[in-house]
Amino acid sequence: MSFLPENKKKSYGVYRGRFAPSPTGALHFGSLVTAVGSYLDARAHGGQWLVRIEDVDKPRTLPGAADTILRTLEGFGFEWDGEVLVQSRRLDLYHAALAHLQLNGEAYPCACSRSEIKSASSQTSVDGGLRYPGTCRNGLPEGRDARAWRLKMFDRDFNFFDRIHGMCRQNVDREVGDFVLLRADGQYAYQLAVVVDDAAQGVNAVVRGVDLLDSTARQIALQQRLGLPTPSYAHLPVVINAAGEKLSKQTLAPAVDPAQGSAILAAAMQFLGHPLPAEMRGASLFDFWNWAISAWSIERVIRAIASNSGKAEKLSTGVI
Ligand code: GLU
Repeated sequence: MSFLPENKKKSYGVYRGRFAPSPTGALHFGSLVTAVGSYLDARAHGGQWLVRIEDVDKPRTLPGAADTILRTLEGFGFEWDGEVLVQSRRLDLYHAALAHLQLNGEAYPCACSRSEIKSASSQTSVDGGLRYPGTCRNGLPEGRDARAWRLKMFDRDFNFFDRIHGMCRQNVDREVGDFVLLRADGQYAYQLAVVVDDAAQGVNAVVRGVDLLDSTARQIALQQRLGLPTPSYAHLPVVINAAGEKLSKQTLAPAVDPAQGSAILAAAMQFLGHPLPAEMRGASLFDFWNWAISAWSIERVIRAIASNSGKAEKLSTGVI
């Protein structure tokens, strides 16, 4: 006998994770590591794994990259659940979320240009930009038009638990300021789209790169304002190149190719603290995934970070 209502029974305890690449280029080793980590964490929990193409930032989207990424994932033997969700087809949802915040007076229009913010703010933000000094918070200056929309923040700490980094804390108001929801170029901000989509897809476990740890408090703030649940978080170490930069299209990271077979997947596992047993060398993709799903443990990732003494880490959110 169960006391849970039918709809709760279905969702209760089901792990639902996702991989959400931005189609700015082909899949490289850094994004492969994130794909492997999020996939294995989902499968090791008997959960679902969704794929979402985050092409909400049109200027950064490369035509054809989404297909290349999906074909590469398929070639490596990743199996996702359900349809691939594409953000550029969901602008109505982001619009509705923003409208809700506008109606509640939580979001406000901002006329500031980048150079105006630069001359008004001396504080750097956690993401390397400048903290928004709140110029338009109490209304647009006379004769100025709205360029962007921002979320009003208040002076309070956001505390959250990360399965890899433990308790984390960020005061979004002090460290970022009122952040952008709709950009001056008319594009919805990543922070808004990701929160709307994670909730719409029922994602309750986010596993992604540690470069996004600094975005987590902003996302929790938005979840709270929109009345949406907060998923669990685990931020994996990111791969850096010899120059100490995160692998990305900008740093010219080479594409990974399924023709490299399980060896490159094994390298991703090694990076995440799961060295391939010698007898598994040259394993088929099928055998590799069987091993990887049963071997996966977040504790091993934590140990790998500790033994790297944080070399692959880039943190500014306070880990407490
Ligand atoms: N689209 C983001 C990226 O490719 C990932 C967003 C997320 O996992 O929350 O870096």
